[in-house]
Amino acid sequence: MSGFVGSQVSNDERLANLEQVLFRPMGADGVRARTGLYERVLDGLTDFISTFRPEAAEVYRFPPVMSRSDIEKSGYLQSFPNLVGFMCCLAGSPAEIRRTANRIYEGEPWTEGLGVADLVLTPASCYPVYPIAAAKGAAPDQGWIFDVGCECFRREPSRDIDRMQSFRQREYVCIGSPETVCRFRDDWIVKAQSMAEQLQLPYSVDVANDPFFGAGGQFLAAGQREQKLKFELLIPILSHDKPTACMSFNYHKSHFGEAWDIHLARGGPAHTGCVGFGMDRMTIAMFAHHGLDLSAWPQPVLTLLGL
Ligand code: AMP
Ligand code: ZN
Repeated sequence: MSGFVGSQVSNDERLANLEQVLFRPMGADGVRARTGLYERVLDGLTDFISTFRPEAAEVYRFPPVMSRSDIEKSGYLQSFPNLVGFMCCLAGSPAEIRRTANRIYEGEPWTEGLGVADLVLTPASCYPVYPIAAAKGAAPDQGWIFDVGCECFRREPSRDIDRMQSFRQREYVCIGSPETVCRFRDDWIVKAQSMAEQLQLPYSVDVANDPFFGAGGQFLAAGQREQKLKFELLIPILSHDKPTACMSFNYHKSHFGEAWDIHLARGGPAHTGCVGFGMDRMTIAMFAHHGLDLSAWPQPVLTLLGL
């Protein structure tokens, strides 16, 4: 496994250098302004991932918000209620809104003037695609492929450079028969390792689980691991001992097919799976391993990213 660039200084110093060059603080943990240098690499990775897009894929880029009723219907609130960001806005008559706004500037308590809106912050870039797929009618056995992406929000504040509340995801999603979706997921586990090799990043692949909420969540997580429904491609960012999940490979079985009433043309609920790319984590990993000076990066990597 290759070392980190900057490993001649302490690990804290190495991470502080990354933070200082790549980001500016925005006054909240896990929410950062990204520099132009950082965005150049993220854009290069985005285009690199696009070169793997199957020809038949439908492409969607989603806003950072989605319908609250859609997220309720998807079951997300049962599994991860602690992670969801609900939108709320000043509510009431114009006079009430004015009164609440005045209270803000008079230093009075004012948040009871907020009303919950019909929106949530999108928690993962594949969630908005299932209602779009459901509207297409019955799914063919050979499946549909979607290329989706958005800025995601998860309420997991942290000072760690690799754990953000607001971060970008890109995904390829497959909806079809169980065989099609399993093949899609297995193929992607192989393809993703070749991507990491081309990017000259050290990696490992391991079975994983989602952070299901509460005591019951432990059972769900254990079941997910036992059935090998989730794998992750991990790259060291914080340390070699605790590598960071930068991509995930998920098989949801019929969960979304049933939630959204997506059927196979041959009968039975459609199965779904997705490969998720953590764009911010992949970008940070590139700088952690190749350094903060692009001109010192390996030429094949620069060429691959169009830099
Ligand atoms: P998941 O839907 O949890 O499998 O997430 C897909 C990918 O998004 C992960 O493999 C990460 O690379 C990325 N990701 C998830 N949570 C965060 C976070 N809090 N900060 C940055 N990236 C994240
Ligand atoms: Zn997904």
